[in-house]
Amino acid sequence: MSWEDNVRRVIPYVPGEQPKDGEKIIKLNTNEMPYPPSPKVAEALKLLAPASLRLYPAADVGPLRDALAKYYGFESDEVFVGVGSDDVLATAFLTFFYSDKPVIFPDITYSFYDVWAEVYRIPYETKPLDENFHMVKADYMCPNGGIVIANPNAPTGVSEMEDVAFIEDIVAANPGSVVIADEAYVDFGGVSALPLTKKYDNLLVVRTFSKSRAFAGMRIGYAIGNRKLIKYLNDVKYSVNSYTMNRTAIELGVASLSDEEYFRETVEKVIATRSWTADQLKRRGFTVTDSKTNFVFASPDKIAAGDLFRELKKRGIYVRWWDKDRIRDWLRISIGTDEEMQTLISAIDEITQV
Ligand code: PMP
Repeated sequence: MSWEDNVRRVIPYVPGEQPKDGEKIIKLNTNEMPYPPSPKVAEALKLLAPASLRLYPAADVGPLRDALAKYYGFESDEVFVGVGSDDVLATAFLTFFYSDKPVIFPDITYSFYDVWAEVYRIPYETKPLDENFHMVKADYMCPNGGIVIANPNAPTGVSEMEDVAFIEDIVAANPGSVVIADEAYVDFGGVSALPLTKKYDNLLVVRTFSKSRAFAGMRIGYAIGNRKLIKYLNDVKYSVNSYTMNRTAIELGVASLSDEEYFRETVEKVIATRSWTADQLKRRGFTVTDSKTNFVFASPDKIAAGDLFRELKKRGIYVRWWDKDRIRDWLRISIGTDEEMQTLISAIDEITQV
């Protein structure tokens, strides 16, 4: 008998590679924003008083919850804030997925979902996306212990809301379980399920500041839903760690929400660059999904995706590739600045011409 027989073992999620400080690369592998956060955030940062750091932050994340509630037209008790949406999602898995029936989500989606299910010992089942990487609605109409929908999805970039009733039909058909809509990328052109949270008490919409608000390093995520859902989330949060959000994150999060013009401008720039990039890739024979996110999902026809991934890396350009069934032929490429994307396209030309 060894203590190792009693360890909670899990195979962890592997995030995209981060370069060491000072390493000069074009980083298109973790869907970060290529532009800095709003200048209002820089101003707020200068005003932060280091002396205040001796005090604990607001356990209920009050100022940021209030600002988010106002921004979206909800009450503060319908908003939950966490350390990035990973923290919010993990807390939601722990809170709402407590059934013997399996939680269901697509076979190709954010690869953290099965890791949380494993670490919390939640039974789960995946449902295959169709050949165009769309979810099959009927698959989510069976008995289940919860449902997770990344909309738009990652790494495919595909949105399900071309059929605007897609999420509503699933939520309405499953009053016995909580449906989580992970909208990490929705600001880049997806259609949100947020209005449905006013109508259905079993829908939790989860979002993040990491992508569209250029705050990946600050770690702010949030969930909006019926106040009963939010209360249960808070009960679990306060049973693990009361002070999840530090003072700096709370204050800078509020500052970010105060600059709508900058937010829209930078998101629009990313959307324009995405459209240019997708077009350039298609001209070079790539198949590219209709992405509603800040990345493109593209499959080359002149070279194996894994080889292209390695060749780009040699040239200091990091993208994401998974050696996984169904997506082995694809690369996920985050949208950088125009200049970075031009460098990427030139590198692809150089690699595929030899
Ligand atoms: N959901 C999806 C679909 C993602 O791709 C990511 C980014 N890895 C997250 C959630 C988590 O992002 P964050 O914790 O930075 O909010």
